[in-house]
Amino acid sequence: MEVRVRYAPSPTGLQHIGGVRTALFNYFFAKSMGGKFILRVEDTDRERYSDESLQDLYDTLDWLGIKWDEGPVVGGPYGPYIQSERFDIYKEYAEKLVRDGKAYYCYCTPERLEKVRQEQIASKSEYQGYDRHCANLTDEERADLEAQGIKPVIRLRVPTEGKTTFHDVLMGDITRKNKDVSPDPILLKSDGFPTYHLANVIDDHMMGITHIMRAQEWIPSGPLHILLYEAFGWEPPIYCHLPMVMGKDGQKLSKRHGSTSVRDFRAKGYLPEAILNYVTLVGWSLDDHTEFFTKEDLEKCFRMENIHKAPGVFDYKKLDWFNGQYIRQTDDEKLAALVTPYLQECGFISKEESEEEKKLVLSLIPSVKERMKVLSDVVPLTSFLFQDVPVTDKAVYVAKGSNEENTLQALEEGSQILLSSLKEGKAESEIEEALVALSQKLGIKINGVFQPIRVAITNSTVSLPLFDSIRLLGLEETEKRLGRAISFFKEN
Ligand code: GLU
Ligand code: ZN
Repeated sequence: MEVRVRYAPSPTGLQHIGGVRTALFNYFFAKSMGGKFILRVEDTDRERYSDESLQDLYDTLDWLGIKWDEGPVVGGPYGPYIQSERFDIYKEYAEKLVRDGKAYYCYCTPERLEKVRQEQIASKSEYQGYDRHCANLTDEERADLEAQGIKPVIRLRVPTEGKTTFHDVLMGDITRKNKDVSPDPILLKSDGFPTYHLANVIDDHMMGITHIMRAQEWIPSGPLHILLYEAFGWEPPIYCHLPMVMGKDGQKLSKRHGSTSVRDFRAKGYLPEAILNYVTLVGWSLDDHTEFFTKEDLEKCFRMENIHKAPGVFDYKKLDWFNGQYIRQTDDEKLAALVTPYLQECGFISKEESEEEKKLVLSLIPSVKERMKVLSDVVPLTSFLFQDVPVTDKAVYVAKGSNEENTLQALEEGSQILLSSLKEGKAESEIEEALVALSQKLGIKINGVFQPIRVAITNSTVSLPLFDSIRLLGLEETEKRLGRAISFFKEN
């Protein structure tokens, strides 16, 4: 049997970490089993639908390098793959269920349904759901309602007795009493729009989906879906509901934790390789030590059995670490091209960068590469080269455990040592030793000397290694900035 899985998002928002993880698990499972990965757009909720979300779905998968074998744009034998283009199919199948007695027309007005709801709340202190008012209408009653021009919905006839079980690869058997399944949910709305349950089940069946890997929040829909498969007389697929993605605090990952949309991560300068690698590790592992996986690795080694039962934790720091690792693995030319838009964005280099600017950016790479967590870090790390905004807050120069007086001395004597040694062409290690000796003489920590020098030269406490900064800035400009800092300290 050929494995066929799908990612079936609703384009009602930007692709987020949880969704993308579902896509990746499905994709890698399909590839590792020699099967097919299908993309299906579940856009039946027209109110929440947006073109932007749909475009974001395509852009995100493209950026990650995830190609779908069948789906929108590329087509396939079971298309269309966009649910709003399949309404005829849903109507046909819903009507078939009515003919078979598995579903029925309901003519209740919103007002009546609301009245039922209020009455139930008043008498049982809880809403029990639809009261099955139209479950057994006679043909005459129906004809009468039709004659009044009322457009009915179609509801599934959920058995009131017995129970329904579905098997989940990770969770085992999940059983629900039929009387606890939502009473007769709507399958087709009066305007001909299908509900999620109907469209989802029909499409999974018609598209030959063999395994369903989706978020755990869909478990409550499981019994209802099984009842639908039974009503149609179809074999349900194999289910594997994925563990939740949580923040470090044990709560479901959400905006409260930080960015969750892939678009945001991309804008900040995360690399697709890092996102793909790290996100796949949220709730999945090959063994207890392997951390680095390329897309090609995962296309081979992903196994459903290795999906964790416990929720996965999305750790922003860990992602930063992965991203830093991937940045350091990227070759300099490519990295230069990747950081260029960030430098252009803030006006450090021109939009149509000149050959000279290209060379300049490339010359920055060996130093910034070691310090970047995300591509956008290039801006704070190199801004001292492109704009000169001296720090005028003394406190920024003063390291922990030092004071203004020592800081001024560190600046004066440190500059002396630094500039004369550099002019003499002394080795960096030797210069460093001399600066360390200065800190000892002043009775302060090493940083008490290095911090003011660094702030004077780079106008910031976040910066490249000191000697890299000086090399990039040039000795003349370095001397000028050090002198300026000393005067500032003396005059204020
Ligand atoms: N459209 C649903 C979603 O947005 C699909 C759920 C499923 O995979 O069945 O998650
Ligand atoms: Zn009704």
